[in-house]
Amino acid sequence: RQPLWISVYGEDSARVVGMFVVTLGLIALIRHSSAMLQELEFLSFHDSLTGLCNRRMFQKSIAAKGQDIFALMLMDLDHFKTINDKFGHDIGDLVLRGIADLLQRHCAERGEIFRLGGEEFAVLMGDASQSEIEQFAESFRQRVASLNGDDKTRVTISIGTGLRRRGESSSELMRRVDRALYRAKDAGRNRVMSSE
Ligand code: GH3
Ligand code: MG
Ligand code: MG
Repeated sequence: RQPLWISVYGEDSARVVGMFVVTLGLIALIRHSSAMLQELEFLSFHDSLTGLCNRRMFQKSIAAKGQDIFALMLMDLDHFKTINDKFGHDIGDLVLRGIADLLQRHCAERGEIFRLGGEEFAVLMGDASQSEIEQFAESFRQRVASLNGDDKTRVTISIGTGLRRRGESSSELMRRVDRALYRAKDAGRNRVMSSE
């Protein structure tokens, strides 16, 4: 037989302490889960190599613009496969990181920057004119081309630019700017072309 005071006070106190501990555990679990969810959300919208926003974020940003007019710059490094083949994949990764840093220094104040995949990058710019986006793209192209000295190690970039037309869908703008990028490649690379 246990003493009366244990059944009157002891068991109640133990129950209260137990409930308190369980509540603390639940709070810790909820905090941990919400931190994990935030991290997962960050990872699903960012590129792990460069830290830039990824293609999924690009699509989300474009969708959020609704019918707004904005400028788009699509970029693709020239002969990047050769850089990997000559210097190795790790150096290729370093080049991609270097280009992402340069983009951030060059464009972060003016637009949103994305790595769409591989050696392809994009910038979205609100409130820009066609000539502004062209000048902007041209100065970035020159900065990339002036990074390294000789012909063997030079990294260059081709860029397509375009301004969304009133009522134009974002996928049509993408196709137009992509065509401009491919014209830049066909014309010899290391250049900026505007979409028609
Ligand atoms: P072009 O001038 O026509 O664009 O030629 P390119 O060689 O750049 O184009 P291609 O599409 O043939 O090659 C792209 C290369 O990019 C192939 C692939 O191995 C490389 N690549 C894609 N993602 C990564 C990456 O994360 N790291 C590295 N190091 N290379 C990558
Ligand atoms: Mg490519
Ligand atoms: Mg390329």
